[in-house]
Amino acid sequence: MKTAVRPDAVMVKGEGSWLEDSTGRRYLDFVQGWAVNCLGHTPIEIRNAIHAQVDRLINPSPAFYNDQMIQLADLVAKTSGLDSVFFCNSGAEANEGAIKLARKWGRINKNGAHRFITFENGFHGRTLATMSASGKPQWDQLFEPKVPGFTKVPFNNLLAVESAITDDTVAIMLEPIQGEGGVIPASHEFMMGLRKLSTQHQCLLIVDEVQSGIGRTGSVYAFSEYGIQPDILTLGKGIGGGVPLAALVSTAQASVFEPGDQGGTYNGNPLMAAAGVAVFETILSPGFLDTVRLTASYLTDQLTQLSDAHGLRGTRGTGLLQALLLPDDRGADVVARALELGLLINSPRPNAIRFMPSLRVSRSEIDEMIDRLNQCL
Ligand SMILES: *Cc1c(COP(=O)(O)O)cnc(C)c1O
Repeated sequence: MKTAVRPDAVMVKGEGSWLEDSTGRRYLDFVQGWAVNCLGHTPIEIRNAIHAQVDRLINPSPAFYNDQMIQLADLVAKTSGLDSVFFCNSGAEANEGAIKLARKWGRINKNGAHRFITFENGFHGRTLATMSASGKPQWDQLFEPKVPGFTKVPFNNLLAVESAITDDTVAIMLEPIQGEGGVIPASHEFMMGLRKLSTQHQCLLIVDEVQSGIGRTGSVYAFSEYGIQPDILTLGKGIGGGVPLAALVSTAQASVFEPGDQGGTYNGNPLMAAAGVAVFETILSPGFLDTVRLTASYLTDQLTQLSDAHGLRGTRGTGLLQALLLPDDRGADVVARALELGLLINSPRPNAIRFMPSLRVSRSEIDEMIDRLNQCL
């Protein structure tokens, strides 16, 4: 089905920051499957983990525990400080699960409260409920009727949130950095204010870290940089390092699913969980996240210089999730020209170019990217 406009290239190989098509042409990849390949293309750690696991056990059924799922749940719980984990296969599925979990919690604890406050330009996935939670204007009329129960307010506006809260509000759901919305970080006051409001009004705070989590910002989770703790956390993209893996994580208090409430045929399968364990072991290895932070500030510096040289509007973002802001709506043209020059970048908004390279991207690869981007501009 024609669900995407794709160039003619057929990709056959990848290594680190480089992707190769069937004609042998190489592309410098600063998209990495939309921030999915946190360790770059075909990293040795994930190859080894999957090779070993595929010979041992692929899927015993979600009706049983398996060793990889237990190990991965332990890593998620230890690093996040939360208590309960449900593994799934995509970010949308994790968020769909978060919506269900909150509604069940509201039924038990808040007189059936079931409404969510979500944000303009937010993105939570492509199932009907997660599309309903998202704030993409182009989706407003698509696939109607949507799932009811989502009130959308402007991002980084605490007053708007406060006045939208009612007795029916069960949760506030946001991305710490709106990725698809154009790389817009939540301010510290906003995130801390939301935590306070949630507690005051007996609502759950759901933080969608599908894009910002797993080392992307230089911390394992972006929420920790705000000094707050969510009630529910969702993970995807980077947690599998390229394979379909995601997680719904919650505090013990919000963990109200009972047997039969939630499930899925592939959920928690050891083949994908083994990849997740390899990702965690790598990003938690000594010095890894320090290097991400150093690389990120190098990227910011280089983008800022480029912006100054071309009279652009500077950068936005955190860690290795950054945007270069354009003075006009030529994002799509820049992306198309970059592709011709063998550089993969993307434009989440017409006036912004987004960079989400491998967390292991080197300075010389950043230099090469800047050089090609300079030519495009
Ligand atoms: C990509 C993304 C999703 C959806 O994840 P899928 O794996 O594509 O379903 C949800 N939330 C955020 C913040 C994302 O960036």
